[in-house]
Amino acid sequence: MITQPPGRSTAQWDVVIVGAGPAGAALARRLRPRHRVLLLDRARARAAGASRIGESLPGAARVLLQRQGIYERFLAQGHAVRGASVAQWDSDTPAWFDPIRDPHGAGWHLDRLLFDLGLRDGAVEAGVSLVDTVRRLALSHEGGCWRIDAECLGPGGAAPSRGVHHTPVLVDASGRGMAAARQLGLARRGHDRLVCLYAHLPVDADDKDQATRLCADANGWWYSVRVPSGQRVLALHLDSDDAELKALRDPERLLAKAQRHGLLAGIRPTTMDFPVHLRPAGGGGLDPAATATLPDGFFAIGDAMLAFDPIASQGLFNALATADSCAHAIGRYLDGVGNARERYLEEMRAVEARYCQRLGETYAAVTRYARERFWQRRTAGGAGGGVFAL
Ligand SMILES: Cc1cc2nc3c(=O)[nH]c(=O)nc-3n(C[C@H](O)[C@H](O)[C@H](O)COP(=O)(O)OP(=O)(O)OC[C@H]3O[C@@H](n4cnc5c(N)ncnc54)[C@H](O)[C@@H]3O)c2cc1C
Repeated sequence: MITQPPGRSTAQWDVVIVGAGPAGAALARRLRPRHRVLLLDRARARAAGASRIGESLPGAARVLLQRQGIYERFLAQGHAVRGASVAQWDSDTPAWFDPIRDPHGAGWHLDRLLFDLGLRDGAVEAGVSLVDTVRRLALSHEGGCWRIDAECLGPGGAAPSRGVHHTPVLVDASGRGMAAARQLGLARRGHDRLVCLYAHLPVDADDKDQATRLCADANGWWYSVRVPSGQRVLALHLDSDDAELKALRDPERLLAKAQRHGLLAGIRPTTMDFPVHLRPAGGGGLDPAATATLPDGFFAIGDAMLAFDPIASQGLFNALATADSCAHAIGRYLDGVGNARERYLEEMRAVEARYCQRLGETYAAVTRYARERFWQRRTAGGAGGGVFAL
């Protein structure tokens, strides 16, 4: 969708955001009442029946959705309320976690495509200009201002169009790829080499199981849960240099390996005709100190700032929360407050420190595979502790 084509002329904005995922769309909507905002996303072919991994949203996100003014719309999208979680983490004895114990409420299992789309629509309705046909971006900083040269797909196969955009504030919300930050010379600090092998399994309507099932394995860890589309997600997180990785891209082998675990043994897809996808999943992101060396007016949010290991199940919350914090920081920056970015980056340092501590505790809680490389890599220096509630 192009709500405002970039054309060939030069345009002036208060804020340009690269990436219209949950973080970028949420930030754009938060800024719009006061500021002229351009939201850029790349051109992508959307396959019929496309699906996206990352469906668990904690109850603590409710207040952020309310602040966005889209909570009612979110509820109307038909996401499923999260049921209990059950884990075989350091032992084969299942440990149950009832979401009623979460003071913020149970949270949801999302229809992820609908969720992302709802945030984008919310931004456009607020008056944000969205261009989601970007093929190439060139970023530069000149005369105290950011310049963005955007090459976009022309409508219906027409020649590409080019637009030049000027703005005092440039935000990288392009996810783990950190497209803007990379182009400006920043490198990603990767915490590990975690990847996720996953499939959306077609299952019988009589599979009424609402629990999130989590199992530690010698190679890594599994989870499985039904999502609102009626399918069941089956996901294995392991290292990219795992010797079994290639073979496990075969649906039969992936399922057979999962079924060795008591909690996953009952998973029975109606057909084996489903693709197994592979995605990078390791935590990591920008070094706040390096970010502070870029010219003023550069910010990063969501996964571009800090991507979480999926065991934390906090990526979407972080996308919404960093959008919220960054909206304040940008408002202050545009009002001339000198340390607005530094204070935002301080907050990000604190978030990362808390996250790394809890992550270490979660992995260190698995001692039964202590000799396996996957677990050794994650437990050096870690201390025992609990599992994040998926
Ligand atoms: C295996 C796995 C499981 C996960 N499970 C969960 C979960 O259960 N719960 C949870 O909360 N989180 C989960 N996450 C994390 C969650 O999906 C992310 O944290 C969230 O999507 C981050 O949102 P974002 O907007 O920062 O980035 P993204 O969602 O990645 O959006 C980035 C946007 O930027 C655009 N973009 C990229 N490059 C460019 C470019 N060059 N030019 C223009 N646009 C660009 C993309 O098209 C996209 O629209 C999981 C992640 C993985 C890998």
